[in-house]
Amino acid sequence: MLAAFWSAPGSAREFPHDPSGVAPQQLEPEDPFDLRTPPQLLPGELDYILHVESGRYLSQGPYIVDSRVQDTEDKKYLLTTAQVQALLQVHAKQQSLRRHPRDTGLSGQVQKQQARLDVIRRVFEQKGDPGLLGPIQTGPLLPGKANLFDLFLSQVSLIGTPPQKAAMQEAMVLLLATPTGRQLAKEFVRTGAKADISLTVVENSKVIDVNGKKFLFGSGGSSHISQEMIHVYLNEDYLKTDRTIQQHDMAATIGHELLGHGLEQIKASDAGVLEAYNGWYEDNETNAGLVGWIISAELGARLDNRHMWNYLRSPQAYHQTLQVTLPYYATTLSPDEIKDPLPVLRQRLSHVQKELDDIQKSIAEWEAWRPRIDHFINVHKMKRAAFHSLIEDIDNSVQQTLPAHRENCNAIVQHVEAAILRGESKSGASEIQQIQVQFAQAFLMREEEQVRSRRDYLSNLVRGKSYEAAYFSPPEPGQITWDELNKMVHADIHLRQK
Ligand SMILES: [Zn+2]
Repeated sequence: MLAAFWSAPGSAREFPHDPSGVAPQQLEPEDPFDLRTPPQLLPGELDYILHVESGRYLSQGPYIVDSRVQDTEDKKYLLTTAQVQALLQVHAKQQSLRRHPRDTGLSGQVQKQQARLDVIRRVFEQKGDPGLLGPIQTGPLLPGKANLFDLFLSQVSLIGTPPQKAAMQEAMVLLLATPTGRQLAKEFVRTGAKADISLTVVENSKVIDVNGKKFLFGSGGSSHISQEMIHVYLNEDYLKTDRTIQQHDMAATIGHELLGHGLEQIKASDAGVLEAYNGWYEDNETNAGLVGWIISAELGARLDNRHMWNYLRSPQAYHQTLQVTLPYYATTLSPDEIKDPLPVLRQRLSHVQKELDDIQKSIAEWEAWRPRIDHFINVHKMKRAAFHSLIEDIDNSVQQTLPAHRENCNAIVQHVEAAILRGESKSGASEIQQIQVQFAQAFLMREEEQVRSRRDYLSNLVRGKSYEAAYFSPPEPGQITWDELNKMVHADIHLRQK
């Protein structure tokens, strides 16, 4: 029964306590603990609390509930901030014992990693010279002892030409410089699974020039599992982008594919729910997305991923955008939607058809800027060169990115139509029933919890920040900006009358 998803297993009681829409800014020790209030929980902390005393504590909205408290008056069943802190202190103690059995300070290796991460952050912050990263260190850090890099690379083969391999190795070094990258790489090593990574052609991928730098527009990669072997395919266009941009993105993409999708696919396969996880479960992508974004943020990279900001603002808006981005996302579903998937898929189909209309309108709107720019050049005698950056923006949109988006949407229409046809068939209906059974397993419930805890951790990492434009290529001084052009158009007597 799927309704059980949203309350804890075995708990017959409901705790009807509506959170207020606004999280308290500060919590007193006796206030009910609120997951939304800074500083939020770290990854693993909520998990820990929910597993203490065989599931005594349950997560309910932003609150944590003590299932042993019968008294529903005065909200006594809501854990207070002081109670949560006491639990977390026990957790922290256990963690530090596990990590450093003897010494209390940071070990030499951890310090080295920390220093390396600081260098990387400075490179990204200074719009830096990639050479600052120094030679790529691939040998053991401690002679004679295998380090995490070697262990990880003994299970992950990099396939490609020498320059491709060098780029992938560099991305691996960056990935393993981050706390989350290291933690998940250790988990991967423990599974004993094997993976390979190679670069490949990605459909509808574009390399676009923006103010003299080359960026990738398109999917960064994909992954595929067959018999405990993970295959990661990275977009070969990465090597055509500027080196800093490549460094900036490739580590996060490998994290997304290998330690987001791949690692979780191994677990899903062990739990017997791989078909549901891979083919149908919407938060498979959310989880991988979070892993990649966290790695970017931990690297100190620019927070220029619109999907990330979209997700943090509204998971629903994020999924709706993905559904018109690539075919795969258009047919994955939430635990609620899998209960009755066909109406959802039909709705998605009309959503993507509307997106196709919007793309046409968008192209026309971009095109409408050309005569306005020409007006300032021809009538007001302004220099064409001052509009170079804006004209490049228009060209990129109408000739590259929007047509690529249109191609993807056409592929989505076919993909969703095929999924609807299959769902309407007899064999399709029984397939959906099997998937519904897999969705009801405890595994996917734990995944939902993990996504929530990673979301909290990421919110914490990026608190106080907002979308950062890709800083690598600001327009040159003297170039007219969109803001300025807008003002010029509004102030212009000829254009205003049109
Ligand atoms: Zn993905």
